[in-house]
Amino acid sequence: SKVINCEPLKSLIRSVPDFPKSGILFYDITTLLKDKAGFAELIDAFAQYYIGKQIDLVLGIEARGFIFGPALAYRLNAGFVPVRKPGKLPAETITVKYDLEYGSDSLQIHKDAIAPGQRVIIVDDLLATGGTMQATIDLVKQMGGEVAGIAVAIELDFLKGRNRFPEYDVCSLLHYD
Ligand code: AMP
Repeated sequence: SKVINCEPLKSLIRSVPDFPKSGILFYDITTLLKDKAGFAELIDAFAQYYIGKQIDLVLGIEARGFIFGPALAYRLNAGFVPVRKPGKLPAETITVKYDLEYGSDSLQIHKDAIAPGQRVIIVDDLLATGGTMQATIDLVKQMGGEVAGIAVAIELDFLKGRNRFPEYDVCSLLHYD
């Protein structure tokens, strides 16, 4: 599928140098979210991309995947499933551990969140190295779900995160180098 051109929405993204630590240029989506036309355009672009692709579930990655994910799920007539940091989900969970630049992190999903064969898209605000996304893909596969796509508002092209999962379709709306 073709991704709609959302380039004008870049003017609504605020970039904050040295957050949360020195050397990181943080792309802040809150300035887009509060703009009613901008927020609608972004969700519409995702919806156009996935409508008709029989998506059963939208998975949102904590925390900013919880903002875009449910809005998109509503538009696609799909369910929403949260993928959370450890210790937040109340029922039985499956955990995946993944490496960071320094140390490691984990994500969890409820054991009964995905039925085998369900078609799932994974949503987050931003794709950087792809480590977070790869971990979430692993969770979906462990549960027998089908990864029908990966949706991110922002992709940091220079980090080539998408090269970690060439077998999956990535829909990213705004690109930075
Ligand atoms: P990665 O696992 O390296 O692809 O990092 C992606 C995750 O970290 C996403 O959940 C993003 O919200 C967050 N993240 C990484 N880099 C940035 C950045 N420059 N600005 C905003 N969020 C970021």
